[in-house]
This record gives sequence, C-alpha cells and structure tokens, in this order.
Amino acid sequence: MLETIRSTLTAGGRIGVDQAAWLYEHGTDLQLQELAGLVRGRFHPPRRATWLKMAIVNYTNVCVARCDYCAFFRFPGQPDTYLLSTEQVCAKIDDLVAHGGTLVGFNGGFHPDLRIEHYVELFTEVRRRYPRVEFYELTVAEFMFIAKRSGLSYDQAAAQFAACGTRWITGGGAEVLDDAFRLRHSPGKYKVEDFYAAQAALLNAGIGSTATMVIGFGEPLSERLSHLERLRLFQDEEGRGRLPSFLCWTYKPFNTELQGQEIGIQEYLRWLAICRVYLDNIPHLRTSVLTRNADAMLGLAYGADDFDLPTEDEVTQKAGATISHEFDQILDSARALGFEPEHRPPLAVPSPIP
Ligand code: SF4
Repeated sequence: MLETIRSTLTAGGRIGVDQAAWLYEHGTDLQLQELAGLVRGRFHPPRRATWLKMAIVNYTNVCVARCDYCAFFRFPGQPDTYLLSTEQVCAKIDDLVAHGGTLVGFNGGFHPDLRIEHYVELFTEVRRRYPRVEFYELTVAEFMFIAKRSGLSYDQAAAQFAACGTRWITGGGAEVLDDAFRLRHSPGKYKVEDFYAAQAALLNAGIGSTATMVIGFGEPLSERLSHLERLRLFQDEEGRGRLPSFLCWTYKPFNTELQGQEIGIQEYLRWLAICRVYLDNIPHLRTSVLTRNADAMLGLAYGADDFDLPTEDEVTQKAGATISHEFDQILDSARALGFEPEHRPPLAVPSPIP
C-alpha cells in the first residue's frame, strides 16, 4: 500500500479515503512527513513558511446553539453574558494594531436578538476606521444563523454582506463536518449539506472563505475522513482553489460539558500530514499556534506551510488554551526546525467565478 501511495503522489495523483485511513493507521511519522512533503512541494518551496498576527474578536458570548464541546457560550439572560459595543470592538482592534497585527476574525455566539443589519453596521464602521486591517467577518456557522434569524435565504444574506463590503467569511464553526458527529455534539447548529450550501452562497456572492476542522472530541477516524472527503469534493466542484486555506486545530476539553482528554501533539501532527496529502486542491495548510503554541511549528514538517500568531481568542481560552505573546520565541522555534518564517499580508480574496 505504501509504495502505491508514494508512486501516486510522486506522479502528481491523489489518494482515496481508504488509502488515507491506511496511511494514518500504519504509516510511520517519517513516512507521513515525506508524503505530506510531496504534496506541500506542489505549492510551496520546502523551507518556506508564512505567518501573520491576528486577533479573534469575540463580540458576544450569547448563544442558543448549546454545543457540548463549548466552554464559551452563555444562554440569553445569564448574568455573565455580553455584547460588545462598536467602541469596545474598536478598542480590541487598537490593541491588535499596537501588536503589529493585520487581521481580525470576528467570532461570537448565535445571538437570537441580532439581525443582519446589526452586523452590516458594525463591519461597515470597523472597515471605515481601519482601512489597513483585513477582516474575517464571522464564520459560516454564524452566517447561517444570522440569515435564518433575518428571514433571508443564504443567497440574499450573502448579497447583503457583499454589498456592504464584506470580503471574507471564514469556514469556522465546522469542527467535524459529519452528520453523526453533529447529531451527537451540536444537533441545533446545522447539517453538513446545509453548511456547504451556505458556503457556496458566499463564494457565489464573491466573498472569500476558508476551510477549517477541529479534532480531538473522541470522534472516530471515519468521521474525520468523511470531513476531508466532502471538503475535497466541494473544492473540486467550486473549482479554481476557491478555498485558499485549511486550518486544523485541536479541541480543548476544559470547562466544557463534553470534557474529555486533550489529544497529544503526535496525533495532531499525524493528522495534519493526512490533511496535507488528501486535500491536494487546497493550496495552504495552516498549523494551529492557538491551540498548540510553539509545538505547532512541528506541523511545518508534516505538510503545513502557514500559521497565525494569535493575540487573543476567548473561545479557546475559556476551554483551556494559553495564548503566548512571546511571538519571537515561536518564530525561533520554526527557524530551529530549518524553516524560514516570512511575514505575509492577509491573502487576497479569490476572484469570483464568472
Ligand atoms: S461553539 Fe459556537 S455555536 Fe456552539 S455553543 Fe459555542 S458559541 Fe455557540
């Protein structure tokens, strides 16, 4: 099996789900690094790694979705809920800019009282105030909820965001895109095909998006592979590398209803390699400093080529993530592994399909 996989990848081909499963279960770490390197090499020079500094602004913790893996959300009416004002949001962006950051990702809960007008107004204002900062204005999961609460189809909601100047809505809130997983852990959030319908509507409106995944909830390998399989198909269907990057991070089990044990770094790295090998139509694979700190740099040897240096994210911090502001140490870890970390501007939004 290994030789078949190696010769397929060397010839520029792609592997199937069964081969990915075999590789994950039987490949050695060195073999995984080698094979991930073959696919990485189709897109990037071997030692190049790019990064930027970003903040995740959690504008509200009010949420009605009740995901059992989430330590961040509060129900409406609970005493420690919040909804940030525009000025409070801007104070956080000021802080990021002072740290030399260039990207802000908005991520909050499913707030039942907010409609699309609230977001359009907020994002229009922050873009006006910070023309040099790029914004990821929500995740696909939040976009879906906002569209439904506003009585709009995904196409209509995407058109409103595009008209106000939204450039990116990331593929966050995906965790494991498998309906059995969703039913077990967050039955009220969405079904997989609905997620992709929303993401397609965003892309069709000319808004950029990305792909994400979270592992380590105790999910079986088959569910992880189903996530990759559907994602690769979506990217094939959308064409032209419409989702420019894929980010995988790991579940933090502290203060959540689900609880559990955090997976070790080797499991994360091995899975990153499988993602790099299988997702041969997504140019950038990002390794997660947010959940693995400097250890995330090891992911560069398992197929990753890019990473964010986050300054804050309450969602993962509430569940046990520790965000380090020792950014130079993290970059030095990459150099010690033989990589040349290069600061990059935020990615350009892919051009709309004519
Ligand atoms: S993960 Fe997101 S959608 Fe789920 S409960 Fe937490 S804030 Fe709500």
